[in-house]
Amino acid sequence: MNLKISNSNKLRIFHIFNHAMLVYAFVYGSWWMWILSFLIWNIIGSIGISIGYHRLLSHKSFHASDFFIKLSSLVGCLATGGAPLSWVGAHRLHHLEPDGKKDPHSPIKKGFFNVYFHLWGKVYIPRKLVQDLLKSDFQKFLYKKYFLILSLWVALLYLIDPLVGVFVYSVPAALAFHAFGLINTLGHRNGYRTYNVNDTSTNNFLVNIFTCGEGWHNNHHKFPSHYRIGLKKSEYDLSAFLIEKFKLSRKPLPKLPKSFTT
Ligand SMILES: [Zn+2]
Ligand SMILES: [Zn+2]
Repeated sequence: MNLKISNSNKLRIFHIFNHAMLVYAFVYGSWWMWILSFLIWNIIGSIGISIGYHRLLSHKSFHASDFFIKLSSLVGCLATGGAPLSWVGAHRLHHLEPDGKKDPHSPIKKGFFNVYFHLWGKVYIPRKLVQDLLKSDFQKFLYKKYFLILSLWVALLYLIDPLVGVFVYSVPAALAFHAFGLINTLGHRNGYRTYNVNDTSTNNFLVNIFTCGEGWHNNHHKFPSHYRIGLKKSEYDLSAFLIEKFKLSRKPLPKLPKSFTT
């Protein structure tokens, strides 16, 4: 039996709520709250999504401790892009056939608007594609209880103070929504290509600002299992910096790919 992706109507309710709360944020927020939200998104986006969901769980690009795997998986849930199991499944489908039939979010196949606004249609993930994650009780727990965990987190923050809810959860989650939209559209349409790979992936500076180092998407399609995505000096990669700086890998990190050229 295939897994149903949790990029579903329930997620859409959260996205609509978060965007509606932007009005509240504009009316009652201060400039420093917006900066704080951007920083919070960078923490959730780098630790949770870019390092956790993407480089660690989807591509196994380095060996992390069990504690860090669980922590990053939990942090990634706050981005409101689905549980790790469904996110990783969708991402592996994307790499399996980028811009092809199986790609759940190809702007070429599904259209820029649909992909940007996460309107992918029905996506089913073959269980064998996420067999490794299905062995983990913790990942199965996150998949089953995803909306309960997220709802409790949101309720707690909003009960403390609506401004806390808005700027600690809703604005960072809205930024996450657009970050996912940007990389899935512009990251396969606009920018420069260092490598002539068999898909439309591009390296894009604007996308990189919102995606914690994921913007060099053409590099990533060339070297999908390398923990470093920004390869040139000009290609700033926050997540790779954190992996190196905080020694998140339990084994020596691999050197840059052999075919890498500046
Ligand atoms: Zn891609
Ligand atoms: Zn990837």
